[in-house]
Amino acid sequence: MTRTRISCCVPHCRRTRFHVSANVDVDGIAVDFAAEWICRNHWSPVPSALRKAHSQAKKAVRVSGTSDACEESSAIWRECKRVATEIAVGIG
Ligand SMILES: [Zn+2]
Repeated sequence: MTRTRISCCVPHCRRTRFHVSANVDVDGIAVDFAAEWICRNHWSPVPSALRKAHSQAKKAVRVSGTSDACEESSAIWRECKRVATEIAVGIG
């Protein structure tokens, strides 16, 4: 098995980690929750309320396994990436 590395979602961040799949069943389709990643340095400045909303949304997907919950979780993750990137470039 080839181990691939994934990069932090924040543009120009050089941090990487090994990709370990975290598949969750959503309406019978495997969705990999570990396909994207934000490194510790860029995750820490994200407001704790948003980080908490992200973890709760992921948990909701694992529990319900519905595409609605997955879409909600994806929207919160996109917001996390947007906020992390804005903070990283100094406009957040
Ligand atoms: Zn980073």
